[in-house]
Amino acid sequence: MVIFIYGEISMDDKNRRLYVEKIRKKFYGHDNLKSKYIPQIPQSAEREYIRVVNEYMRLLKQEIENAIPKIKDSYKGNRDADIKEGVRTDSFTDLMLKINEIFARIESKLIKKVSGYGLRKKLENLANLNRKLTVKEWKKAIRSTLGIDIREDYYLGDFYNEQLQDWAKQNVDLISTIPNDSLAKMREIVYNGYISGKTTTRMLKEIQRAYKVSLKHARLIARDQTAKLNGQIQRHQQIDAGITEYIWCTCGDERVRESHRALNGKKFSWDNPPLNSDGRACHPGEDYQCRCIGRPVFNNSNLNLPIDDSVEVTIK
Ligand SMILES: [Zn+2]
Repeated sequence: MVIFIYGEISMDDKNRRLYVEKIRKKFYGHDNLKSKYIPQIPQSAEREYIRVVNEYMRLLKQEIENAIPKIKDSYKGNRDADIKEGVRTDSFTDLMLKINEIFARIESKLIKKVSGYGLRKKLENLANLNRKLTVKEWKKAIRSTLGIDIREDYYLGDFYNEQLQDWAKQNVDLISTIPNDSLAKMREIVYNGYISGKTTTRMLKEIQRAYKVSLKHARLIARDQTAKLNGQIQRHQQIDAGITEYIWCTCGDERVRESHRALNGKKFSWDNPPLNSDGRACHPGEDYQCRCIGRPVFNNSNLNLPIDDSVEVTIK
């Protein structure tokens, strides 16, 4: 049976029958039909997320750069005193006090900047962009496979909005902790550098490296979370449309992990995700940094689609 969500309300029976007929033809008497188009991960949402984290991390970079001369002076000053006197304990306490003060100042300045940045709002916008692009891909899959158009506004409902809000909230937590974690690491670098007698230049290089590692981490989150939200929306769209199975599709490049390569082209149920090499059950996009996609398998006897009933059906 084919159910039309919007059709039940306003589509006249004749138009509805034509839709049924049109879709049935596409199945050629079979019950299942693989999507002709494989929905893609929204690249522009990923790029936008990376732009946001770059901007956010730059706030930390600016504060560190402003404080570097002071860090350098107190580090160097105490090291010189050490070398002269051959005593480490006193100057280490001095250094700790100074460094603590410098880092506390960086932290308080950073808090102000970060709170003015509006990360939450930006992530909500990103979630919306992701949904919009994911719906576009879904629409493309239905258009190319069944030859019909669905209503995009159907995916603007509370159910999807709640998911987007949850995602935005989780992502605020993931991103907003990075600058502070990075600062804590930098402070450790100064302390440890001092204890192990590292030169000022070497200590500063390590601070730079710590920043780069944090930036890379933030970018990885951006990629991972874009694919995760996309996978999550796709799964809900498909289940809602009465789709129970999908074909696992990797993006086919050299970065695809071995365990996912083994799943490529195989059919799985949305009720029963396959096990990864580490024993966890995952749908496409759920694993860390996974860029795989669940290619929908349409089911003729169980189809449920929000049809655009403003369009008159034409059958070739
Ligand atoms: Zn994957």
